[in-house]
Amino acid sequence: MIFDVLTLFPGMFSSPLQESILGRAINQGLLQVRTHNLRDWAEGKHLSTDDAPYGGGDGMVMKPEPIARAVTELRQKTPGSKVLLMSPQGVPFKQQHACDLAAESGLIFLCGRYAGFDERVRQTLVDAEFSIGDFVLTGGELPAMVMIDAISRHLPGVLGSSDSVGNDSFGDGLLESPQYTRPAVFAGISVPDVLLSGDHGKVASWRREQQLLRTLQRRPELLETAPLSIEDNNILEQLRKQIELTKQADE
Ligand code: SAM
Repeated sequence: MIFDVLTLFPGMFSSPLQESILGRAINQGLLQVRTHNLRDWAEGKHLSTDDAPYGGGDGMVMKPEPIARAVTELRQKTPGSKVLLMSPQGVPFKQQHACDLAAESGLIFLCGRYAGFDERVRQTLVDAEFSIGDFVLTGGELPAMVMIDAISRHLPGVLGSSDSVGNDSFGDGLLESPQYTRPAVFAGISVPDVLLSGDHGKVASWRREQQLLRTLQRRPELLETAPLSIEDNNILEQLRKQIELTKQADE
């Protein structure tokens, strides 16, 4: 997998890509991240990559020509690469996107700055536009790093254990169950007995119930699309009844 990143601030990427799991994966050649300074494709005396907006208004807009030249060259180097535009107006980036994009051979990330991109960049150069949340950042570099991290976790060999992604939150459409490690008692709170029982069947049932409870409490909308068994739905019905009874008792 080759990640090409088109940015005005390539230096922002060096430290995050050297550390921990991503750093190791890059050293092992499991993925490559190539950062490119957009200014290398700028022309004119000032090598400008942005200009004032037509119609007036705040901020500068990123010019389309340097981006078009850069994308054409990068696509020639890695044929089949998909161009992804970082934008608060894009599709909200989800775990399923990370999983799907990990199957691509190359991805080109366009990191905006200032007031964002000339609209014709979207119209002519981009395969998909992604947002990492409903807030506005100063640039697309952090979103690109977030996406590269999330996508890389789905590449073979990047994580130590091959099933870690499946066990994580969103892996099976639900949030993960609570986790505990030593000590068995901390701040007066004991680890649930079932986790100390050594009974793998009971542990698995407890974890599934906790996943359902946690998702019901924190992200109930995920239950509308998560693949649920009849047993899961029975557990959910019981959990909803219990929550309702607790609410009534509190009133
Ligand atoms: N004027 C733009 C708007 O309101 O849609 C925002 C421009 S923002 C200050 C500059 C750049 O940061 C954007 O072009 C984009 O690349 C990036 N960016 C900001 N927030 C983002 C988000 N939530 N997700 C992805 N990219 C974002």
